[in-house]
Amino acid sequence: MVTITRFAPSPTGFLHLGHVYSASLAWRSARESGGRFILRMEDIDKTRCRPEFEAAIYEDLTWLGLEWDPPVRRQSEHLDDYSALLEKLSDRNLIYPCFCTRKEIAAEIARSNSAPHGPEGPVYPGICRDMPEAERQRRFEQDEPYALRLNMVNAIAAVKLETMRFHEIGKGYIQCNPEPFGDIVLARKETPTSYHLAVTFDDAIQGVNHIIRGQDLFPSTHIHRLLQGLLDLPTPTYFHHGLISDGKGRRLSKRDKDATIKSLREYGYQPEEVRKMVDYG
Ligand code: GLU
Repeated sequence: MVTITRFAPSPTGFLHLGHVYSASLAWRSARESGGRFILRMEDIDKTRCRPEFEAAIYEDLTWLGLEWDPPVRRQSEHLDDYSALLEKLSDRNLIYPCFCTRKEIAAEIARSNSAPHGPEGPVYPGICRDMPEAERQRRFEQDEPYALRLNMVNAIAAVKLETMRFHEIGKGYIQCNPEPFGDIVLARKETPTSYHLAVTFDDAIQGVNHIIRGQDLFPSTHIHRLLQGLLDLPTPTYFHHGLISDGKGRRLSKRDKDATIKSLREYGYQPEEVRKMVDYG
């Protein structure tokens, strides 16, 4: 089978060695199989994404020789696609509006003695889950900010969870277990999709059949597998690679200015040297 992989950065900072590692694994896997390596800009968070970061991503990848197969998909240009998915989920009573502020959620969690913790932190305690329709309408009319949350109980009831697995290279088949995440946010009033919804849909419509990304995103795959089931989308094969550390054992992040490709270039490093740093020279 021809491998279709992707690199899907969010243009919220400059690429660092960790990104190059991820991109290079995906690039190599596509090139070795005569497949395709797709670049996608996950630029839905308008408050954090900046055009100069997007421009630097193109420049850095080109400099490194990690050429991608066009076109680049920019998520911000496809918001209607995500709205249509939300509508489908809403028609099946799988999402609901939540008007809670972070403060209200934290206060409710503090009040309750048995607040469960999921892989992404405390689980939403369901304050708005069963809100009467009239109150929902009233609050929409008052133009209150809201999030659209997945009703996890209804979602699990809508699929055959016990048959849902995903293949993780090196680990085998993993049973999908999204329940610990609780009612996750799938969109907000100002941002009509979350990472989870957009990434699941885009990987499917772009034909990505091999997802290579950092181990930090492994838990999210349970959510993506559930969404694939709910939206009737195919399930790719996954490989979640280890994360590059900064030499002191700490994971590299966008805060590590010295590890950005931009600064390595400015220090005078050559592409081969940077490629060697992540071991694909
Ligand atoms: N956009 C995500 C990030 O930059 C990566 C998404 C993914 O690879 O699934 O962290």
